[in-house]
Amino acid sequence: TSASALYKTCASSGSGIGKRYLVTGAAGFIGYHAAAKLRSRGDVVVGLDNFNDYYPVSLKRARAQGLVDMGVPVVELDLNDQEGLQELFRLCSFTHVLHLAAQAGVRYAARNPFAYIQSNVAASVSLMETMRLQKPMPLLVYASSSSVYGLSKRFPFTEDDRADRPASLYAATKRSLELLAHSYFNIYRMSVTGLRFFTVYGPWGRPDMSVMAFARNIVDGKPIRVFQGPNGTELARDFTFVEDIVAGVLAALDTSAPSNDPHTAPVNRLYNLGNTQVHTVTEMVRTLEDLLGMKANIRYQPLGATGDVLRTNANITAAHNDLGYTPQTNLRAGLQAFVEWYFQYYGSDGKRRPADEVGYIPD
Ligand code: NAD
Repeated sequence: TSASALYKTCASSGSGIGKRYLVTGAAGFIGYHAAAKLRSRGDVVVGLDNFNDYYPVSLKRARAQGLVDMGVPVVELDLNDQEGLQELFRLCSFTHVLHLAAQAGVRYAARNPFAYIQSNVAASVSLMETMRLQKPMPLLVYASSSSVYGLSKRFPFTEDDRADRPASLYAATKRSLELLAHSYFNIYRMSVTGLRFFTVYGPWGRPDMSVMAFARNIVDGKPIRVFQGPNGTELARDFTFVEDIVAGVLAALDTSAPSNDPHTAPVNRLYNLGNTQVHTVTEMVRTLEDLLGMKANIRYQPLGATGDVLRTNANITAAHNDLGYTPQTNLRAGLQAFVEWYFQYYGSDGKRRPADEVGYIPD
């Protein structure tokens, strides 16, 4: 994205008069969908991403190109680059910041701890420091994760449950982000809303996550690894369709009070965004087999010390009451949309791979 394209976007007025949205992690899975949705309702949106190679960069480039085609410039910048960030805020005076950039993934964390500190803790502080110096100060909506509940067995997980026993480094950095955001609210009256997403899947999904990694191996005729807990317990997840997540994200943005406003109190909120219907990983695989029309070769493996939790399940009462959040998509319908996209992106047999595809994909 050139400076002139950026300038043109930021000088234009969208349908939400005077509102300008920055979406961090816009070339990522959820960031792409959220930025596209904001743009489709007429908002002025700028994306930011460092295009790191955690998973195939070609997919991030394709998402970013899709956004650019819709009129969302995507700036290539690392959030730790404070000078670059300040310049961007000078150009665009954002009113709303949707912070989705992160080093995601649970299993990768044990081998790459510093990537998580850099992108989830340091980068978030860099962003919030830049934000607090703006006049007026933008409001913040940021992504947290169901993983903060750790190995809790108090199902369904509720926001005021203890979330201080992380089972992975990833979870620890997401919990740190929640605490840091809380402190920016207390010190600077920054309006902050954290959203704990539960296993998000859908079109343009992440190749390192089970739905996409399994689809790929099923299509390629390779075995898939399904983890099992003690005594053969099945792993189970509150799989949530990306469009439902995006509806919750937009509602959080729309219901946030401005930061540091003399007339309204800024908000300090934290919500689960899940689906509430829990499925075992095997159930997900069976549905995927059905939709792909191919059989999976499942190899069950003991979970070991990966940092994965056995089961997640969201209580979404708070998000429902405050944000009107009501997930609409069941696992089968969501996987159907994913499979359609998969064949469209990777070719009719699902086997085409963009030439430069490199990055972390679990087997
Ligand atoms: P993603 O990896 O597809 O997107 C994150 C994007 O952030 C990537 O494109 C990456 O290049 C970018 N990024 C990382 N570090 C950066 C930095 N320092 N500066 C600038 N950009 C950087 O992940 P996603 O699935 O879209 O997740 C979005 C957010 O939601 C993340 O914060 C993630 O932790 C959280 N989350 C996701 C899920 C899920 O199931 N997908 C579940 C819980 C929480």
